[in-house]
Amino acid sequence: MNAPETAVRTLTRGEQKQAYENNKLFKRLARQVGQAIADYNMIEAGDKVMVCVSGGKDSYALLDILLRLRERAPIDFDIIAVNLDQKQPGFPAHVLPEYLTARGVPFHVENQDTYSIVKRLVPEGKTTCSLCSRLRRGILYRVAGELGATKIALGHHRDDILQTVLLNMFYGGKLKGMPPKLQSDDGKHIVIRPLAYVKENDLEKYAQLREFPIIPCNLCGSQPNLKRAEMKTLLQEWDKRFPGRVDNMFSALADVVPSHLMDHRLFPFAGLRATGVADPHGDIAFDDEPCATPDSGTVPIVPFDAL
Ligand code: SF4
Repeated sequence: MNAPETAVRTLTRGEQKQAYENNKLFKRLARQVGQAIADYNMIEAGDKVMVCVSGGKDSYALLDILLRLRERAPIDFDIIAVNLDQKQPGFPAHVLPEYLTARGVPFHVENQDTYSIVKRLVPEGKTTCSLCSRLRRGILYRVAGELGATKIALGHHRDDILQTVLLNMFYGGKLKGMPPKLQSDDGKHIVIRPLAYVKENDLEKYAQLREFPIIPCNLCGSQPNLKRAEMKTLLQEWDKRFPGRVDNMFSALADVVPSHLMDHRLFPFAGLRATGVADPHGDIAFDDEPCATPDSGTVPIVPFDAL
């Protein structure tokens, strides 16, 4: 008997190119997430990672990438997805449970009507996000304790971190960002941000590619955070006009020189004395051309006593 004929269609050039790009995107995301996890020792053997999923593209991508990375991780760890149903009008409560069940992911939905609390306490016209986030944070920490989670994973990405740095600088007078790993405010949990190295537009592409059932994020009717939106636009414009500037800004967050900033809590300026030992990478503030540019090549360092 002849073998049944199977219709095998050859991919068009366009489809091959798209498949290649998709594969590259996934490899990039997996590499960046793996790198962030390793750099900050985010996940250890035996951890139970509570992945907070809101129904937005970032948290879907976070969960999806962690699940895929776990398949080939050299250590064992558990993942549990948690969604907080804040009882916003129109929240499609069935979407996440259906998705998570289909993916075979253990999950917990916490039902807490923070929407009504926020509406009751915040005067009409005032922004509700700060109280809402505080309530959400407290609830998620409690749930993490109840579930025995050892890590709480959030879906903030590289662009969230950069926007936060600018917000804190412009409106808070602080050099402060959004750390990839931190102790929770109540001192009881470790919060991790495995997407810390990932660009938001890669997450947008990935969400489309994986066809996540996105839940709209404006159900609460709150005003969008205008200041954050302003920072986002600023960064996007810089990136367009000065390619590489935003990447450099992000790299700078992981290469801090406290002796060349002004926080005397980080560097003992008061006790600073000359040691007589030259530092070739020290203060170049008086140099005509403090930065080596790609065209100029590296500026040679001339010892002072050779001048
Ligand atoms: S947008 Fe709505 S749900 Fe999100 S933090 Fe603000 S008030 Fe809460």
